[in-house]
Amino acid sequence: MLSILEVEINSLGFDVWIRPLRPLMTDGDSLVLRAPTSTFKSEVTARYMPFLKEALRGIDGAPSEISIIATDELDEKTKVEVEHKEPEKKPEVIEKNTINPKYNFESFVVGGCNRLAYAAAQAVAENPGEVYNPLFIYGGVGLGKTHIMQAIGNAVRMSMTNLKVLYVSSDTFINEFIESIRTAKGANQTFRDKYRGVDLLMIDDVQFISKKPSTQDEIFHTFEALRSAGKQMVFASDRPPQDIPDLDSRVRSRFASSLVVDIQPPDLETRIAILQKKAQDAKVNIQDSALEFIAEHVPGNIREMEGVLTKVIFLAKLSERKIDLSVCREALNDYRVQTCDEITADEIIDCTCRYFNVSKDDVVGKKKNKEVVEPRQIAIYLINDLMTLPLTSIGQIFGGREHTTVMHARDKISAAVAADTKIRTAVNDIKAMVLRK
Ligand code: ADP
Ligand code: MG
Repeated sequence: MLSILEVEINSLGFDVWIRPLRPLMTDGDSLVLRAPTSTFKSEVTARYMPFLKEALRGIDGAPSEISIIATDELDEKTKVEVEHKEPEKKPEVIEKNTINPKYNFESFVVGGCNRLAYAAAQAVAENPGEVYNPLFIYGGVGLGKTHIMQAIGNAVRMSMTNLKVLYVSSDTFINEFIESIRTAKGANQTFRDKYRGVDLLMIDDVQFISKKPSTQDEIFHTFEALRSAGKQMVFASDRPPQDIPDLDSRVRSRFASSLVVDIQPPDLETRIAILQKKAQDAKVNIQDSALEFIAEHVPGNIREMEGVLTKVIFLAKLSERKIDLSVCREALNDYRVQTCDEITADEIIDCTCRYFNVSKDDVVGKKKNKEVVEPRQIAIYLINDLMTLPLTSIGQIFGGREHTTVMHARDKISAAVAADTKIRTAVNDIKAMVLRK
């Protein structure tokens, strides 16, 4: 039932409203669920009762009626029993590697960062095997590669029902391939038939085939077979083909042979639009200022941003508050502690240099022209913002500068972030690069 609901309801709504429900008992034709509080109960009843009923209807032999009781409505005795009896229920997961119907083109927010990938994906979905074959999508973690890839799969499944669509992670491909060699004769043929007999083959996270020569060989032959049959392939990776280490040159050239598109970290506006969409899908009401706050403080990785949003909704629910800035601050405190531990000053300087296209030597050196000073000050600001280094140590990193110089840089950028869009965008984008890893 959980997996049916998870498909029907968007992930935020599911995590916030459905997962906390616990089956209490089945009473003949009726299933009783327990909600943590009575407010929770009324919210869930109002929002999701039809979904719950519909999901039950989809299960053979399931009770046809459903009701929800709040823990505080139970008498003491039942409460104690429930608390003791209740095993920690593991959520069922949708079978790995199937295509998630929620990852479609409609739920994908388009911005400058992903416009090209979106357009290419749509073109492929409309004419698989004909336009960009293969399509190679690359970009950092949590930026929507899997989403856009599966959107192709969903669209093709909807409009061309006779076509065979297969989505796998490269892990699955590798494991099945190894298994097919190891096990009985004939398994290898079954493996080949499976991968070479489809109309649309999507392999996610192909960077993992690095250093696996026999898998690469298999991919190469799969590739040739599908291409000569005019079948579509789509690959996703966290980096472009030329940057995947230890890759057979034949495979590399095949990856690179058609359209290679990237997905960049989203800018502030796109991040806000994504949050608005997720909140809307979750049917929760959140002030725009709160969404903006999250978008500004969790740059880059969209999955993390969604995580913070889920947390915000959850915290608000738990303390029965409306979703405002104070809830967001609380949720973000945890996030910052988690993510900022592992960052190094070098990474920050590195990302800043790449963003502005200046050399590291210049940024930590003595030059005073604007092209270098601004990146330097931004790097200082970010190190101070993301790490817990004393100002004097930051000064050391930048060629032994005084701590007052560091302070000046920090304050200058801090003011500029509030007043100057260009600086704010740069700071957010670099932060996103640093945090994405
Ligand atoms: P990747 O495969 O690049 O690591 P995913 O495709 O898994 O990232 O995306 C992470 C999360 O962010 C998913 O929940 C996805 O729906 C969401 N997401 C990413 N990009 C967008 C977008 N442009 N619009 C809406 N949601 C997005
Ligand atoms: Mg992915």
